[in-house]
Amino acid sequence: MTKDDNCGCGHAQSHKHTACGATQAAIPSGSNDTLDEMVLKERLHRIRHKILVMSGKGGVGKSTVAANLAISLSLAGKRVGLLDVDIHGPSIPKMLHLEDAHVQTKDGAILPVEHAGLKVMSIGFLLQERDDAVIWRGPMKATVIKQFLQDVNWGDLDYLIVDSPPGTGDEPLSVCQLAAPVDGAIVVTTPQDVATADVRKSITFCRQLDLPVLGVVENMSGFVCPTCGTVTDIFMAGGGELMAKAMGVPFLGRIPIDPAVGQACDDGKPFVYHHSQTETAKAFERVIAPILAICCKIATHESPNTTNEGTNTPMKIAIPIAEGKLCMHFGHCDQFALLDIDEKAKKITKKQMLMPPPHEPGVLPRWLHAQGATVIIAGGMGSRAQNLFAENGIKVVVGAPAEAPETLVAQYLEGTLVSGTNVCDH
Ligand code: ADP
Repeated sequence: MTKDDNCGCGHAQSHKHTACGATQAAIPSGSNDTLDEMVLKERLHRIRHKILVMSGKGGVGKSTVAANLAISLSLAGKRVGLLDVDIHGPSIPKMLHLEDAHVQTKDGAILPVEHAGLKVMSIGFLLQERDDAVIWRGPMKATVIKQFLQDVNWGDLDYLIVDSPPGTGDEPLSVCQLAAPVDGAIVVTTPQDVATADVRKSITFCRQLDLPVLGVVENMSGFVCPTCGTVTDIFMAGGGELMAKAMGVPFLGRIPIDPAVGQACDDGKPFVYHHSQTETAKAFERVIAPILAICCKIATHESPNTTNEGTNTPMKIAIPIAEGKLCMHFGHCDQFALLDIDEKAKKITKKQMLMPPPHEPGVLPRWLHAQGATVIIAGGMGSRAQNLFAENGIKVVVGAPAEAPETLVAQYLEGTLVSGTNVCDH
């Protein structure tokens, strides 16, 4: 099959090619290059961080790390997309139990499949049959990756995690070129593979493309006994750290072989989602901590002491809420918690939960002002909305984490509320 085989029918469905029996997944294609570029730019503009997950060779747990990294970030309250560009062997659909999922289109764009708080896209969703083989050469792969970025309506994302096939071929190269700037790459290896040239090639590839190596993960490092939970180093563990040091790149951590990880993958249940209390899940968390720090590196400590200075207005804090916690999507919350504060005693004196009016520009600031709110603690908010709140005399704290309102207020009053990046400020 060659590039000319692209039938370009404009439907997000796959086609069986009678000549070769392979499947070509057709997704809408743009007609005008400049327009395409504009759409791509616009889509990428709405994605704050793009991270590529690579490995020197297959079977080292790269897709497992990518999927669990994406879920951990989502559990940390971030808006996350997971893009599987492993065109010949997509494993993300199986890993998330989405083998039967098919994408929908809306307004000429493909909608990613939503699962476990993630927006997911994979060539697997476009194949007619699970076991169909995709036979594409380099340029076609670049085309389909471009369409994954351009024609998929990802919306606003804090992170797009890209699971690339093993090695340093067309796919990671296309991602780096098309989605530039990519924040960096995570290289996954196993204790047996650290000494191989494959891993070093991945790091060299990143250097050649000026792509920062965010770090090396040593997966399958030690074995967790399913009975007693003890970790035994069945292979020489720790080589990943030495190799990372020798190559001058960060080491993100070790993840043991845990039968529960393999089982979770087989069952299509993301491990960190279903086994969050285990030592292995904690190992995943340690690995993602530096990745989260990319977003939060400009974290600041918010303190209330500038709020009502010199005024007699009693402090009232408003927090957008979904499922009992701060809602990261300011305009899409179910309710607002309104908390009356005794500033001297640093205490909540009254709490109300109110349904907000429909989200229209300018409505919420006026409504919250009418409720007597003097401070709003939010996850993310566009700068226009922030200005409207300021005009209504309401102080805005953005970038707060998805916690219960009482926790956030206590931290705010103590001056310990850590507010990270404003997730909506594009
Ligand atoms: P890759 O993407 O590198 O080809 P996968 O993520 O598909 O590798 O993982 C290969 C297999 O290894 C899968 O069956 C997965 O469940 C299993 N696996 C990955 N990491 C672990 C781990 N830490 N413990 C146990 N099994 C694992």
